[in-house]
Amino acid sequence: MTTLSGADIADLFGAFAAMIEREKDHLSALDGVIGDGDHGVTMSIGFQAVQRALAELPDDAAPSDVFMLCAKTFLNAVGASAGPLYATGFMRAAASTKGKQTLGADDVADVIAAMADGVVHRGKAEVGQKTMVDAWQPAADAALAAKGGASLAAITQSAADAAQAGAEATAQMTASKGRSANLGDRSLGHVDPGAASAALLLKTLASWASVRDG
Ligand code: ADP
Ligand code: MG
Repeated sequence: MTTLSGADIADLFGAFAAMIEREKDHLSALDGVIGDGDHGVTMSIGFQAVQRALAELPDDAAPSDVFMLCAKTFLNAVGASAGPLYATGFMRAAASTKGKQTLGADDVADVIAAMADGVVHRGKAEVGQKTMVDAWQPAADAALAAKGGASLAAITQSAADAAQAGAEATAQMTASKGRSANLGDRSLGHVDPGAASAALLLKTLASWASVRDG
């Protein structure tokens, strides 16, 4: 059975940062259609700042230390909506893993659920309002449903698949939270950028986990 140390979680954040750099222009282009065009830039600022912060973290840091550092870094570095939303998600992830030196597959499902809870708590959006909650909430539901025997690869893949379906579904929604709520029905037909980046994070997690499990 795969278990993940704090150093493994830091490595995972390296994979997130690399993915965001590759997808930065795509995410900003999505935000350009229904928002202010900066979502790729704001995510890049956050994950690049996390990379710098993690370089200073001791090798024996626990997973919760990594999540807490990410929370503080996002809060300080990212001014846009995604900053406090992800900061609260990472803070909840830190709380859910507190006291554990390593994480198993079920703990990772709890982390995904904690991320969703944090985002919902901070932003007060519900499923169907065309936000990143439309990716995080189904991912959390799928991860929790897969708990209790499934491998890390299987749990994270079911979360990633649910997030992808949730993000795609935002194209059929009218935004009622966040910046694009101003557009009303004109947001119809376009994927929400925050849901798209959330689905990409979960996809990155699943492919990173499949290598760890393999
Ligand atoms: P900003 O809107 O400040 O420019 P970003 O472009 O970084 O911030 O992020 C926009 C994304 O943030 C949206 O696509 C949406 O997914 C998400 N978002 C905005 N408001 C909320 C909210 N209240 N709850 C959840 N997610 C939200
Ligand atoms: Mg924006």
